[in-house]
Formats: sequence, structure tokens, C-alpha cells
Amino acid sequence: MRALIERIKREGKCFEGGILKVDKFINHQMDPNLMKQISVELIRRYASTEINKIITVEASGIAPAIMMGFLLDLPVVFAKKKKPSTMENMLSTTVFSFTKQREYHVVISKEYLTKDDKVLFVDDFLAYGNAAKGIIDLCRQAGCELVGMGFIIEKAFQHGREAIEKEGVRCESLAIIESLDNCEIKIRE
Ligand code: 5GP
Repeated sequence: MRALIERIKREGKCFEGGILKVDKFINHQMDPNLMKQISVELIRRYASTEINKIITVEASGIAPAIMMGFLLDLPVVFAKKKKPSTMENMLSTTVFSFTKQREYHVVISKEYLTKDDKVLFVDDFLAYGNAAKGIIDLCRQAGCELVGMGFIIEKAFQHGREAIEKEGVRCESLAIIESLDNCEIKIRE
């Protein structure tokens, strides 16, 4: 997606360990207009697919997810990283975060992810695919249909896509980073 790629080139910053910082427009300060363009493009890519719910993981996935839910008039559910004391029946899985270098649990209420759902998962980044694998596990537990996954930015050199496609799940991303070696952002054109 051209506008996104140009923005990453202009305002993205590279950090040690293969981390891209885009917190000027994606996941800290956010550009709602760009987020709308991102959402419209993800919706276009999944236009021929039946979806009744958007799911994501807190916190950075919530912005594109709510925008897509708004545009499609569909409910949005985010997996929580802490179990609320009021949540009784839940699905739970473990995810390893490489940016934080630790494991965490993610939970979704059984009430909001059921066998009748056809869900599209959305997140800001696809890196090693650990969050995605956790969502695949939650969807299996729920018995719902995971129709696909959509990411704003994919870091191809961390191979998350392979993990997703190996599970038979469709994967779309709007900007593909080929490499962050020597702190130089190389984007697939
Ligand atoms: P994965 O689970 O695919 O290994 O990593 C995806 C998650 O880690 C995303 O939800 C995202 O929040 C975070 N993440 C992974 N790589 C980056 C990165 O380069 N920059 C930022 N800001 N977050 C990242």
C-alpha cells in the first residue's frame, strides 16, 4: 500500500534486534486518516470472504480493528493480556513476545468467540507469528472459522507468514519489510 510504504520510509525508525518503530503514526500517536486507508485496503482484500466479526489482540491491534468493524458494521473483539476478575468462561492460550522477551497469557470470553463465528484477525505487526499462532489456537478452541489474518506491517525476515500459512490460514499484509539490517529499512516495492 503506497501511502503506508511512503510513511514508513519517511517516519519509521529502526531499532536493534529487528524492531521497527512506527509510533508516530501507527501504535502510539495514530493517524486516523492513514488508519482508515489501511482498513479500507484490508477490507478490499477480504471483500469476497464472509466475515461476521473482527478479532485482534490488545493494544496495538485495536485501532485498525475498530476502524474495520466500523466500516463493515461488525463487532470487534480483542484478546486481553490480563484475565479480568469478572470473566468467568474463557478461552486461554500462551504467547511469547519477542519485543518483551517473555510469555504472556491471552484470553477471550467464550461468549464472544463461538463456533458460529467467521472471524478476521487484524494486528499492527507480523513478526515471528507468535501472536497469530495464539489466535489460531483460540479459534480452534472456540471451533470458529478463522477466515484470514491481516497485518499493517509484515517483517518478512522473521518468517511469521510461513507459520500462519502452514496452518492453512490466509495471510495479507500491507507493507512488507525485507530487512532492517544495519538499521536500514528495506521495503518490498
Ligand atoms: P509476533 O507475535 O508476530 O512475533 O509479533 C507481533 C507482535 O509483536 C505485534 O502484536 C506487535 O505489537 C509486536 N511487534 C513485533 N515486531 C514489532 C516491531 O518491529 N515493532 C513494533 N512496534 N512492534 C512489534
